[in-house]
Amino acid sequence: MAAAPALKHWRTTLERVEKFVSPLYFTDCNLRGRLFGDSCPVAELSSFLTPERLPYQEAVQQDFRPAQVGDSFGPTWWTCWFRVELTIPEAWVGQEVHLRWESDGEGLVWRDGEPVQGLTKEGEKTSYILTDKLGEKDPRSLTLYVEVACNGLLGAGKGSMIAAPDPEKMFQVSRAELAVFHRDVYKLLVDLELLLGIAKGLGEDNQRSFQALYTANQMVNVCDPAQPETFPVAQALASKFFGQRWGESQHTIHAMGHCHIDTAWLWPFKETVRKCARSWVTVVQLMERNPEFIFACSQAQQLEWVRSHYPGLHARLQEFACRGQFVPVGGTWVEMDGNLPSGESMVRQFLQGQNFFRQEFGKMCSEFWLPDTFGYSAQLPQIMRSCGIKRFLTQKLSWNLVNSFPHHTFFWEGLDGSQVLAHFPPGDSYGMQGSVEEVLKTVAKNRDKGRTNHSAFLFGFGDGGGGPTQTMVDRLKRLCNTDGLPRVQLSSPERLFSALEGHSGQLCTWVGELFLELHNGTYTTHAQIKKGNRECERILHDVELLSSLALARSTQFLYPAALLQDLWRLLLLNQFHDVVTGSCIQLVAEEAMCHYEDIRSHGNTLLSAAAAALCAGEPGPEGLLIVNTLPWKRTEVLALPRPGGAHCLGMSWGEELLPSPGHRPRHGLCSCPHPHLTAAPAAPAACVRSARAPADLASRPPPTKTDGSVTLDNGIIRVRLDPTGRLTSLVLVASGREAIAEGAVGNQFVLFDDVPLYWDAWDVMDYHLETRKPVLGQAGTLAVGTEGGVRGSAWFLLQISPNSRLSQEVVLDVGCPYVRFHTEVHWHEAHKFLKVEFPARVRSPQATYEVQFGHLQRPTHYNTSWDWARFEVWAHRWMDLSEHGFGLALLNDCKYGASVRGNVLSLSLLRAPKSPDATVDMGRHEFTYALMPHKGSFQDAGVIPAAYSLNFPLLALPAPGPAPAAAWSAFSVSSPAVVLETVKQAETSPQGRTLLLRLYEAHGSHSDCWLHTSLPVQEAVLCDLLERRDPTGPLLLRDNRLKLTFAPFQVQSLLLLLQPPPN
Ligand SMILES: [Zn+2]
Repeated sequence: MAAAPALKHWRTTLERVEKFVSPLYFTDCNLRGRLFGDSCPVAELSSFLTPERLPYQEAVQQDFRPAQVGDSFGPTWWTCWFRVELTIPEAWVGQEVHLRWESDGEGLVWRDGEPVQGLTKEGEKTSYILTDKLGEKDPRSLTLYVEVACNGLLGAGKGSMIAAPDPEKMFQVSRAELAVFHRDVYKLLVDLELLLGIAKGLGEDNQRSFQALYTANQMVNVCDPAQPETFPVAQALASKFFGQRWGESQHTIHAMGHCHIDTAWLWPFKETVRKCARSWVTVVQLMERNPEFIFACSQAQQLEWVRSHYPGLHARLQEFACRGQFVPVGGTWVEMDGNLPSGESMVRQFLQGQNFFRQEFGKMCSEFWLPDTFGYSAQLPQIMRSCGIKRFLTQKLSWNLVNSFPHHTFFWEGLDGSQVLAHFPPGDSYGMQGSVEEVLKTVAKNRDKGRTNHSAFLFGFGDGGGGPTQTMVDRLKRLCNTDGLPRVQLSSPERLFSALEGHSGQLCTWVGELFLELHNGTYTTHAQIKKGNRECERILHDVELLSSLALARSTQFLYPAALLQDLWRLLLLNQFHDVVTGSCIQLVAEEAMCHYEDIRSHGNTLLSAAAAALCAGEPGPEGLLIVNTLPWKRTEVLALPRPGGAHCLGMSWGEELLPSPGHRPRHGLCSCPHPHLTAAPAAPAACVRSARAPADLASRPPPTKTDGSVTLDNGIIRVRLDPTGRLTSLVLVASGREAIAEGAVGNQFVLFDDVPLYWDAWDVMDYHLETRKPVLGQAGTLAVGTEGGVRGSAWFLLQISPNSRLSQEVVLDVGCPYVRFHTEVHWHEAHKFLKVEFPARVRSPQATYEVQFGHLQRPTHYNTSWDWARFEVWAHRWMDLSEHGFGLALLNDCKYGASVRGNVLSLSLLRAPKSPDATVDMGRHEFTYALMPHKGSFQDAGVIPAAYSLNFPLLALPAPGPAPAAAWSAFSVSSPAVVLETVKQAETSPQGRTLLLRLYEAHGSHSDCWLHTSLPVQEAVLCDLLERRDPTGPLLLRDNRLKLTFAPFQVQSLLLLLQPPPN
């Protein structure tokens, strides 16, 4: 035993120990230098380079060429396969032998045709254990393959992580050798590093930190790296320290292995498939070696990829799921963005996810897991509860730039009052390493200390995958119960949340959305992806509705359930939190656009098929089938397709479709070969009629022009545009009420400098508001477009900058309560932000924004830091600023970024960030927004149906056969507060004849309503969002009506069993 230390110098003692374990200094004589013993090169190394991501069987049959350590390979996104022939020296019998492999890129070791371990320098995995102890009779020669992807854990950014990828990057293999591994040295290193962590973490005011430091110092004294026989004494000193316990009151940290894998981000979707394999196969190995280690894994899509590409690995994951070590969490298809997906999309995330987890792993997830997403909709608690989930975990709000979120464990109450138990790991990360510093932070930063005594601790390399390492597991095991530190358990989400639920009596409640005060640019970045999302949500809605009607009406029709599931999964995949948000590289954006194109083209085919089925079997004229896919009557002007690709205007008027009175017969409907057209009065419905326009429609709205300005008037609203296209007046005709603020102009385009601090595609900063520059047009650019008839319009051009221009058609239709702005922009900017503003003659301290299945209010002032931190917010199809008796609503067809400050409604249109996609948003864009002044409340004025109408145009589908002879409505709802959102075939549908209906209360009121249907319904029963029948049994169905009762913003789902078809 060494002499007691004679000197007392904190720093020299601490640094002495640091040098003893340093991988950089004194490795010739320190302990770290002894981690590996003898080594020898691999017997033979050869390689094969390919731009493809080949399956193993195909890859190993290629022509491998001799290779050596030091060789370069690449470029970015290619793959280099290495064949590694190795022979372990006989002299190493009895030793632990590793393959030490260091290369750039991400490696995966294959042995006997199966993946066995990931190898990445960045993920601290640089050796593969060939044998724990080489036996005398063990085979000493074998062949391995290492598949190296030419990208790092976090992609291949040129110069910085989020810069656009460098396509020319080259990669190198710097080590490939066999070596003897000294397990006893490794254990001492783990202990010494923990002791150093305790000494530093607890600091010089704490007596336990001195005990840790002097224990470590003593270990260095007794330990001679060159003499392994000295190790046990040192080891005993450490064990004595870590074995010293403390009291029952200690905080418990639930450590769970995790590996956040962004489904696509700085790398393409296809690389994620391999990231999953590399990460999880390593996890399998850890689970085998550490039976107490538990790994939480989210995102059904990733597991589905592994199921189809690596069936052997999938089977292992299922096996460990049975043992409770591999725990599927989250319940969703991907970790989707928490703001932008529609309510129905969010339901489908859970429906597809939970069904997958149940099918493949035998049970559904009981916690919603979204650690890395940019804000959380206030409607999520209700959706979660109805999908069998009462628990929620994230940590992203720790990224708030302005306000520090006040809780780590709390009840989160949603829009309708539903509550879930939410936990934010107090260490503010999902990628912990198992250090003492992180363990101490988890307790110190916990804002609910004293209220609950449990915290989550998610460890493992994340974002680009990688996951936990054996060292992390060993550190955490060592800290299970040591005086001076919180208790650490290798635990599971179930154990954590059960413990939290046991102490929930004192927890606080947070009501409403969890708004992330950062990344507000993601509501706008990559406009085409946003547009694709909105459009495809509509297409799938319409396809499901029409297919359901076809199913009900036609005995021959086969509901396209499998194809619809595929299309939904594509849409859900694009809702991943770095895709729909626009924060991905160009390669991903291109793939996402292909996904949308698939949905569009298949969707249109499915719509035609459903239309054909609806038109079959009944006598009637041929022509067009006009379908209203919304649950209320619509009186609208619509463009009707004509041969040769042209359009003419028609109008659905109640139950009739009218030709445009402004057109001569040769352009009008009369010239159609089949003059009888179908129109849609109430949804979902179809009717046949052609008629003349009533006289009073024929005369308006005629645009008038005085002094270069244009006035459009449809008898409901009167719009006045100045000679540059700005809105100088918007009057509600009946009351004469002006909606534009006095002395101000609306439809004012404004340009901002948009240079964030770091996260280019993600962030728009508060200070951008200080750079506002109105875009001024030239007088005389305004022209009358369509002159009178059922539609009036004006048109103008606007030069935004020397490089970017805009053209806009301002359209007012007969009978329409809003004026539309069809906008085309050619956008070529760098770090600029384009918005359009409407100063309203309205005063209110709060504005209303549509969210999933409802709406919420946010302040229009900057009183407190919580108010001004929401200088840029998100909305779905509409926002509204109302005072008592009057308001102005701004609708849109594909935008999400918005704000209302004071009386100015502002819609965010286009950004121009350059990282991680240098090309994002450059080029041509088309979008529509609309302005609707109204009296009364927005609810009573019909802003919500107006926004639906803008987003769900009436469908005019060619009817291949005789269309139904009479107008026909499938469903109607008696209350304007209740929206029938979705009609689809039920997931489980005996003989395929059960429909699922989803309705929600949209006004924020308690409402009773009658749902009426003309379909032959045999039985109706409520169900949850996963379509599980409500135990209360069937609803009373009389005269094809049933009564439903809603609480504010409540979502209800209903299963309708259709009567069997007559023969
Ligand atoms: Zn992420």
